[in-house]
Amino acid sequence: MDDCIFCKIIKGEIPSTKVYENQYIYAFKDIQPCAPVHVLVVPKKHIESAQKLTDEDTALLGEIFKGINEVARITGVDKSGFRVVTNIGRDAGQSVLHLHFHVLGGRVFGADFG
Ligand code: 5GP
Ligand code: ZN
Repeated sequence: MDDCIFCKIIKGEIPSTKVYENQYIYAFKDIQPCAPVHVLVVPKKHIESAQKLTDEDTALLGEIFKGINEVARITGVDKSGFRVVTNIGRDAGQSVLHLHFHVLGGRVFGADFG
């Protein structure tokens, strides 16, 4: 998608701090971190949100979660624990319409999803 900020980041047209990459996903530090570890895990395929996943994406979803676990290991939160968040649509506050998973760690989170 030409006007998608995350597609541009994946292509290297917008700079980012890479944490991990493979043929399926790109993972980079969030520009406005909410926790000591705040990484965005993004499929290279442009999909608007988790709501738009199809049967064709079943294997990709597995790859995304493998990537999330790899990011947790690289950033050192795999033992302490971490939170994975994906926002869908307006009320959830999704601001970038390219599927992404926030990987948050390095501090204790409350049960309030606020
Ligand atoms: P959402 O609110 O859609 O779930 O999350 C979008 C996230 O992307 C936000 O946490 C925001 O800080 C991050 N973000 C937006 N633009 C950029 C950017 O240009 N670079 C990086 N690294 N993160 C971005
Ligand atoms: Zn995109």
